[in-house]
Amino acid sequence: MPVYNTKQETLQMQGEEKNTINVQYLGVGGYLFRHGQNALMTAPSITNPSLLKILSLTRLKTNEGLVDRLLPTVEDVEMVLVGHSHYDHLLDVPYVMRKYAMNAVVYGSKTMGHIMAAAVDKSRIIAVDTYAAKGKTPGQWIYNQDRTIRFMAIESEHAPHFAGMKLLPEGPYDKDLKHLPRTVFGWVEGQTYAYLIDFLNEQGNIAFRVHYQDAASTPPLGFVPDLPANDLKRVDLAILCVASFTQVKEYPEGIIRAIRPKNILLGHWEDFFRNQKRPVKVLRTTNVRNFIKRLESVMPGDSQWQMPMPFTQMRFPLVEKTE
Ligand SMILES: [Zn+2]
Repeated sequence: MPVYNTKQETLQMQGEEKNTINVQYLGVGGYLFRHGQNALMTAPSITNPSLLKILSLTRLKTNEGLVDRLLPTVEDVEMVLVGHSHYDHLLDVPYVMRKYAMNAVVYGSKTMGHIMAAAVDKSRIIAVDTYAAKGKTPGQWIYNQDRTIRFMAIESEHAPHFAGMKLLPEGPYDKDLKHLPRTVFGWVEGQTYAYLIDFLNEQGNIAFRVHYQDAASTPPLGFVPDLPANDLKRVDLAILCVASFTQVKEYPEGIIRAIRPKNILLGHWEDFFRNQKRPVKVLRTTNVRNFIKRLESVMPGDSQWQMPMPFTQMRFPLVEKTE
């Protein structure tokens, strides 16, 4: 039996400590951020179909009972950010948005939008392609209703899976799907985005800045663009992607040197083909020790990293801009 008791812990933490941000790792690329009364999440992935199931090309579907049991409270989530549309990031999002995050809007590539159109109302889907930063050119900030959270999508890329090859199709889709994809090959990548996410204080100043990636990318793809002076702030928390990191050059060194984050979370490190009832293991063929060694060789002296177990909750102090 799993030992997680996510719902109760989340309820206890809700509304606590105005001066902190709560982050919960939901596995793979999923994170739940809570700041006062406001919440944002990145695409949660809980089902973890087995490799055998994926290779046999039987229908991939959300394990609804498992999501019901493991998903923390997300009723207050306003924004769901999707980096790319592979099944290990998007498969569970339709069910989560229909049953739990019922007030949330999902953001990602237009391909993501065409997939999600098969499952949720189009008023709840926004393609970020035209708002995204490209290279050094900034994109547009997208705000939540209370203007306490904003994010900017940043054009990035998805590392090859193995031996320089992408094993899953890239897409894109150009029109809305009538049904959710049936097999792994229907969950195409689309354009991959990184995200810069700002949590804002009552005066509208940046109180905490997150840089998020759900796929390793070749530098400088995914880097923070050249922002105007009033938007500058050190990244307080960088979320890195361990899966496939050796398939691109200079990851994580490039991104760490570029953004010098204060805190670093290693994500997408666990074997996501493994049944959630079994103990968590590192993704096969992934040398996490080497990732950490390379990370530590370039990390700023005042930075720290963590590699959380799925469903771990973390709390970070807000670091208001001083200049
Ligand atoms: Zn993935």
